[in-house]
Amino acid sequence: MVADDKPASTFKYAEQPVYTASNGAPIPHPEEFQRVGQNGPLLLQDFHLIDLLAHFDRERIPERVVHAKGAGAYGDFVVTHDISDITQVDMLTGVGKKTPAVVRFSTVGGEKGSADTARDPRGFAIKFYTQEGNWDWVYNNTPIFFLRDPTKFPLFIHTQKRNPQTNLKDATMFWDYLSTHQEAIHQVMHLFSDRGTPYSYRHMNGYSGHTHKWTKPDGTINYVQIHLKTDQGSKTLTNAEAGKLASENPDWNTQDLFEAIQRGEHPSWTVYVQVLSPEQAEKFRWNIFDLTKVWPQKEVPLRPFGKLTLNKNVENYFAEIEQVAFSPSHLVPGVEPSADPVLQSRLFSYPDTHRHRLGVNYQQIPVNAPLKAFNPFHRDGSMAVNGNYGANPNYPSSYRKLTYKPVKVTNDHEKWAGAAVSFLSEVTSEDYVQAKGLWDVLGRQAGQQDNFIGNVSGHLKAAKDDTRKRTYDMFSKVDKDLGARIAAATEKLASPTKSSL
Ligand code: NDP
Repeated sequence: MVADDKPASTFKYAEQPVYTASNGAPIPHPEEFQRVGQNGPLLLQDFHLIDLLAHFDRERIPERVVHAKGAGAYGDFVVTHDISDITQVDMLTGVGKKTPAVVRFSTVGGEKGSADTARDPRGFAIKFYTQEGNWDWVYNNTPIFFLRDPTKFPLFIHTQKRNPQTNLKDATMFWDYLSTHQEAIHQVMHLFSDRGTPYSYRHMNGYSGHTHKWTKPDGTINYVQIHLKTDQGSKTLTNAEAGKLASENPDWNTQDLFEAIQRGEHPSWTVYVQVLSPEQAEKFRWNIFDLTKVWPQKEVPLRPFGKLTLNKNVENYFAEIEQVAFSPSHLVPGVEPSADPVLQSRLFSYPDTHRHRLGVNYQQIPVNAPLKAFNPFHRDGSMAVNGNYGANPNYPSSYRKLTYKPVKVTNDHEKWAGAAVSFLSEVTSEDYVQAKGLWDVLGRQAGQQDNFIGNVSGHLKAAKDDTRKRTYDMFSKVDKDLGARIAAATEKLASPTKSSL
């Protein structure tokens, strides 16, 4: 259900309903309370006061462990190019076809009140309300990630958050992990370029990162990666600008997005797909299930197919953005996950989080509800508010037959013959090649390599000596000169007081 189609009980701001208690009984004054006489104790019978306090006590739900701080808006996706040769996804068939969407942008490591301009990857999550169910793109603003093994995810995230003893961010923890798990180097290069501090959510790209499978109309598959390129132009903050905003206006990106949409400046992104056939994928230099690698665009060109535009702010942040629940497993016919192990683990982890944060019926919350869903075998549970499928049988009854729509599925990945991605895969010289590719991209943009050195050294300076040295070695494997420059710049800044652990 989208914003315009709310349950009747949700009053619009413009309406002026009579104030009541939560049971609907009129209350003559919202600040009144009942007590014995003029100065006596309060009365247990005062439902309005007790209900108000009890509800207030329960206003917070668990914040997301990652991506806690975010902002979002509604919009739509329009197909701009015919790609019916490579997809049978309903939403993508037919130039001009429009699908409503909600988007949530976020930082990753900080808490719900943390600064928007922190150096961090950004989440770029989209829920499309398609005619064949909700399709979620749970993307980031970087095309890769720090790891390719799902078990490392919680361990890695711990190092980006707070030290368990000091409750402080800890540069030693941060670089100790990265320098001992050097498959992260490519993402470290992205994070410490100025794209690690985007100017705003409107001015950054989005990437699927993971490989997915798209079924073709003939039932065969291709592997795909999606890119959303900002039509506003990529714009970044320097480290100094990001630091200044973090203290002066920690909600800068949230404010920027809301106010731009209020002004009628509707941000948009051009959407592209990279496509590899299974045969091409098997011969490809890069393992398509390795989340630390991109598909070079000269070899796998970007094919445009759509435009995402954000054009409407939410009416209620908590209801529509705090409660929005994305998952890479919310897929529609024509799309399947690849065997990328990190994607596979996310298929489990996201709905698990939603069940914890929002409850087992999280898909019934209006912002999450599909345009049409009929699954009467999901029964009861906390907050079953959609009528609980009424009198429909709660098993496949022979007295009320259900209607089914056939969907083609493939199992082609089982024939995959390339190298496995596993926690046993060694970090090899191949892992530094694309990191060096980005170093060269930065070299083509005035001042970007210098900023990179400054961004790393300003952070790494607070780590312990041996961690610093291991990190210089890591950067030297990308480029000798890069390692030497980071070592020189960091040692100049390093103070004798280092973080512990
Ligand atoms: P290309 O020269 O074809 O593409 C370079 C890409 O780098 C463009 O997408 C560009 O995005 C992006 N870029 C430009 N500046 C920065 C920056 N400061 N931080 C991050 N990305 C930036 O080369 P390849 O496809 O061969 O990739 C070369 C390197 O570029 C890769 O190793 C990877 O690190 C990085 N990259 C690659 C992407 C891919 O999917 N192939 C996507 C993004 C980055 P834009 O056009 O928006 O400026």
